Amino acid sequence: MLKDLFVHICILVTFIFLAGVIFKNSEASSLKKNQILFGVFFGILGSILMIFSIQVDVETIIDLRHIPIIIAAMFGGVTISFICSLIIAISRILFVDITPIMLIVSLTTIFVGILVGLIGKLKSQNTLKWLFMVVSSTAVFSIILYYRVREIDDFGFILLNYWLLSIFGSTLTLLLVNYISRANYLHNEYKRYASIDYLTGLKNVREFNLTLAKLLVKASSDKSRFALLFIDIDHFKQINDQYGHQAGDAILQQFGQLLLDTIPKKDLAFRNGGEEFSAILLNVSGEEAKQMAELIRERVEKYRFRLPDKSEFAISLSIGVSMNKEKGEQLDEIIKRADQALYQAKSEGRNKVVCFIEQ
Ligand code: GH3
Ligand code: MG
Ligand code: MG
Repeated sequence: MLKDLFVHICILVTFIFLAGVIFKNSEASSLKKNQILFGVFFGILGSILMIFSIQVDVETIIDLRHIPIIIAAMFGGVTISFICSLIIAISRILFVDITPIMLIVSLTTIFVGILVGLIGKLKSQNTLKWLFMVVSSTAVFSIILYYRVREIDDFGFILLNYWLLSIFGSTLTLLLVNYISRANYLHNEYKRYASIDYLTGLKNVREFNLTLAKLLVKASSDKSRFALLFIDIDHFKQINDQYGHQAGDAILQQFGQLLLDTIPKKDLAFRNGGEEFSAILLNVSGEEAKQMAELIRERVEKYRFRLPDKSEFAISLSIGVSMNKEKGEQLDEIIKRADQALYQAKSEGRNKVVCFIEQ
């Protein structure tokens, strides 16, 4: 029995770990898209657990198939736990002869899938819901176990083993699932923070450098053209000095959104730091880049930004534009030209677009 138990637990742990890897990026919303896959995955786990069951005595085998169903219910809801239990029920019929008792076991598995899915809908703590799910599913399968082995003298012993095993397996699973979910959550958060600017939600300067470097490599082979826009808010320090840092932050946030709304979806917007932003316009000519830069400048000039005290405020931008060279070039060369163009826009009175476009 210990050997079977060991194999059973090893299968459970391996699948949970694999699920953590496969569904790593699945947040609640995107899990919806993967829900069938998630249900199928845990359905397969349940079926394998059923095949590698634990021999308690000569005639009696037990398994922890309800645990994958509970995981499916906790993370996906009633639909996923239903899919999961359906797969286990179907594989039960496929792998074992169809007998009335097998049909009852299969229907009971589906019933447990729906039951734990509905418990998952309760508005209580997750650990409490988990506990309800474990107790109710173990109780339902205990009834089935009773009908299958009631003639056996030591049914009490088998039942005790089943409950102990269920409690042990589900506690271990809960610890593991919590650990993996937390690790995945932190991993995704750190990944996000490493590439996203916290204030505006735009891509940050690190992402800017990586993207630009990749685009230059791509352009040197496929000869694609793109434009780099360096965008700097004029006299931003005065806004901070006059209206406070919070007002400055509000303007930065609203400008970030306005920039994102203005450029086409295919293009990229970044906050490079402070009040300095950039945009990369893909597959454009110098003329198109200039027009887009003018559009951004004009929209910002006309836009009324809302300050925290509900007053409205207008700002202006200086924009330097440069295009990548067809023959290929280094990162700092294209940056330098955009920088020089921006510097010229500033020195020519601000609220201006200057293009440094070499043929
Ligand atoms: P110019 O027209 O020459 O660009 O002048 P400027 O005042 O916009 O430029 P300067 O570089 O002198 O000042 C930039 C200011 O941006 C200084 C700093 O206080 C402010 N700043 C940088 N980061 C943030 C931020 O995250 N929030 C706020 N509110 N202000 C910031
Ligand atoms: Mg500025
Ligand atoms: Mg600046």
